[in-house]
Amino acid sequence: MYSKTFYIETLGCQMNKSDSEKISGILENLGYEEKFSPEDSSLLIMNTCSIRAMSENKAYSYLGVWKKLKQKNPAVKIAMCGCVAQQTKQKVFAKAPQVDLVFGTQNINELPLLLEKLENQERVCSVLQKPVHMQDSSVPSRKEGVSAWLPIIEGCDYFCTYCVVPYTRGRQRSRMPGDIIKEARQIASEGFKEIILLGQTVDSYGNDIDNPGINLANLLKELNNIDEIARIRFVTSHPADITDELIYNVKELGKVCEYFHIPMQSGSTEVLKRMRRPYTREEYLELIKKIRKEMPGVGLTSDFIAGFPGETEEQFEQTLSMLDEVTFDHCNTAAYSPRKQTPAAVWKDQLPYDEKKRRLNILNKKVRETVQKSQEKYIGKTLEVLVEGFKEDDGKITLTGRTRANKIAHFPGDKDLVGTLVNVHIKQTSIWSLIGEINLS
Ligand code: SF4
Repeated sequence: MYSKTFYIETLGCQMNKSDSEKISGILENLGYEEKFSPEDSSLLIMNTCSIRAMSENKAYSYLGVWKKLKQKNPAVKIAMCGCVAQQTKQKVFAKAPQVDLVFGTQNINELPLLLEKLENQERVCSVLQKPVHMQDSSVPSRKEGVSAWLPIIEGCDYFCTYCVVPYTRGRQRSRMPGDIIKEARQIASEGFKEIILLGQTVDSYGNDIDNPGINLANLLKELNNIDEIARIRFVTSHPADITDELIYNVKELGKVCEYFHIPMQSGSTEVLKRMRRPYTREEYLELIKKIRKEMPGVGLTSDFIAGFPGETEEQFEQTLSMLDEVTFDHCNTAAYSPRKQTPAAVWKDQLPYDEKKRRLNILNKKVRETVQKSQEKYIGKTLEVLVEGFKEDDGKITLTGRTRANKIAHFPGDKDLVGTLVNVHIKQTSIWSLIGEINLS
């Protein structure tokens, strides 16, 4: 084992993955080398997610395995960061005594100092309570690939009654456009072809800055001018923040993909009210209609929660009927999981675990049916695909990429095409992807 080596396990959303890239960049700057196995590393970092109990449990079960590595080699240091660290702070040490360092979501840039402290102290914990503006001093270490994540806004002001994000990531803070464009140019110069703008509510970008010209629609316009970038996407949109101007720019700007991920969470207006989601079923449907009117081929995906406290059978069925009504291209689903600090976690009308599980199974079946239905419309069409990678099997190469609507497509081709745009004629579909061949005409 090398003396300055590290391994990061990243759980949760793209924002966490982007944070891990920042952590890697900082450590590489300090002379550390990244390893792809915890057994080869002297510093183990668990970047945690607390969106659901399952994710949090997963983090502690990894720490259980790492404890054995530390028992074999006491020089190994274990750090925990991310949303569980932000919420649990010092208490992590009681629950997992093998952990040496705990740092919060706002303390990433302090890492060099914290590691220095750890040389003289048995344990170090640094968790800033007050969110800071997204700092641009660290240079993320992005892994080679075709797409790069670019965070533009952090935190959230919505305080949905089930969600920990405003507690773990703080209130909404947007980066200044100049910093984002500078980083986008850097990404382009590193050879990435696609930029994915990130934010918990990415379309709220700029709402916290006293300048109406700073918004996602205008930022997309600026980024569209970067020559070397072929495509731009953004996730995750909040239904209440999608403006007409944004829809118009997505339609008009050549590099911006016609794709929206718009979590709905429930098909029942009553449940949405209890979730503190500021829209009704009808308003959400209206928004979808407006987007589809402008861009009939748009890709639409969403998130839904099954078994929110007090959700009746009828309200759950409204979620199922929503999937039929919209025919989403995909939906992420989860059974409701009570999270510390959130209002809904202490409500008395929690549904039993088995009931939540039952509803989730029904919902997942419905998602599969919907996705299958949504794929059919692509058969016989020729779609632009950005080639992301390939698989070689018995000398046969299958390329994989994404359409502008974010559908995964597989097709035979040359591996040199990775990173380029090709036109693919779709001949058939599988449950989660499209299958076709390159159209050379
Ligand atoms: S808008 Fe999204 S991130 Fe913000 S509180 Fe609601 S679910 Fe959480």
